[in-house]
Amino acid sequence: MSTYDLIVIGAGPGGYVCAIRAAQLGLKVACVDGRDTLGGTCLNVGCIPSKALLHATHLLHESSHNFDRMGLTGGRVKVDWTKMQGYKAETVAGNTKGIEFLFKKNKIDWLKGWASIPEAGKVKIGDEVHETRHIVIATGSVPAPLKGVEVDNGSGVIVDSTGVLTLPKIPKTMVVIGAGVIGLELGSVYARLGTEVTVVEYLDTITPGMDGEVQKQFQKILSKQGLKFVLGAAVKGASVSRGKATVTHTLKKDDSEHQITADCVLVATGRLPTVEGLGLKELGVETTERGFVKIGKDWSTSVPGIHAIGDCVPGPMLAHKAEDEGMAVAEVIAGKHGHVNYDVIPSVIYTTPEVASVGLTEEAAKESGRKLRIGKFPFMGNARAKAMLQADGFVKLIADAETDRILGCHIIGPNAGDMIHEVCVAMEFGASAEDVALTCHAHPTTSEAVREAALACGDGAIHV
Ligand code: FAD
Repeated sequence: MSTYDLIVIGAGPGGYVCAIRAAQLGLKVACVDGRDTLGGTCLNVGCIPSKALLHATHLLHESSHNFDRMGLTGGRVKVDWTKMQGYKAETVAGNTKGIEFLFKKNKIDWLKGWASIPEAGKVKIGDEVHETRHIVIATGSVPAPLKGVEVDNGSGVIVDSTGVLTLPKIPKTMVVIGAGVIGLELGSVYARLGTEVTVVEYLDTITPGMDGEVQKQFQKILSKQGLKFVLGAAVKGASVSRGKATVTHTLKKDDSEHQITADCVLVATGRLPTVEGLGLKELGVETTERGFVKIGKDWSTSVPGIHAIGDCVPGPMLAHKAEDEGMAVAEVIAGKHGHVNYDVIPSVIYTTPEVASVGLTEEAAKESGRKLRIGKFPFMGNARAKAMLQADGFVKLIADAETDRILGCHIIGPNAGDMIHEVCVAMEFGASAEDVALTCHAHPTTSEAVREAALACGDGAIHV
């Protein structure tokens, strides 16, 4: 048995970042995870493997759609699926080993196994009980099940976000249930590989919660890329026969029943917190109706000495939100001031084009009763985007008409996921649209489109 200042349960982006920051602040730290490798969902079966596949298939798409136009000729690029899987695995291993290195560097004990909390101040792994002054629960989330649709990742026929990353072969046809970020990113991967992808979504729009104008443009662009959409459709169930799955859904508009048969079905209808086996109920740690750990100020749970962060607590299920909470809770435990600004958490969809947003959507900003100034700039007016043959999309900046303070930004276009951070920094500093408009931006960059949108909030953009 060892005694620690802090034991973090879960080594995902929330947990491992928390462990590193706490060790940097002088605490004796251990981090426990039941997986064989560090990095949690994000590094092992989430952000990183999906981005490796998105990157490779983006290049494939470029090769067949834009290379010829740019004078890059030669044989058609072929896909070696086994090799692509190897590249993905290598990317994952490089990243998970990187965390292992950081743990050693920061003298963090990596405890392997599934943990429970018999009482505050104790963490049990197998037969071993470790004592600790503080516990941080960072146990993340798992794909949510869908009634009537049984996932069997091993079969490769009905799979979730984990199974879809390692399909034995590229399916000819695929049904994606759920038009959220994960469904659209992974649906895009297979569409680019030649799979006929149909996305079935319960709501009448894709990417729920996103700015309405962006939703519409995004759906148009994805449709042009070959993805089919069935919106307003409630999936009733799925059956498997001879290696294919048939999905039954009813259309909400007329209650008519329909079936789609495909080689593969991806269930991407959200994620649920992983809290089973921790013993929270017995401990008296309160959870919400959906099973998320309830937290108060400073990420503390209802039991003193136990904190919780990341996907297992309410809020956006994003790696960088988990990381921010990880750093902040470590600071709190070390007696400092931890801070997360929940109003400025960007979200990105890594399709082509990328979609990125931060702050209020136009709909939410209008609902708040404020008078708005909205500046929009199309990438058609951006020289760099045109040179990249990626001029679809726009930047939309939303400012308060009275104060000119930036309230939100929504970008659909090349490099959107990187460009959004300029606006995040501006928002953190309470900047006005004019502050961004007056800032010199290098030419030619896609970031100039952000400045043009800021100019459009005032006297007008130049290149439209
Ligand atoms: P997790 O990363 O889920 O880590 C929790 C860890 O806790 C796991 O390793 C688990 O094994 C361990 N654990 C659970 N219970 C126990 C226990 N009792 N004992 C020991 N260990 C335990 N987010 C982004 O921001 N950007 C993206 O591009 C992105 N892409 C994604 C793509 C996919 C396909 C998926 C599925 C998710 C994606 N996400 C993305 C979401 C992101 O992965 C999560 O928000 C993030 O991993 C949450 O971090 P976390 O530390 O809270 O939990």
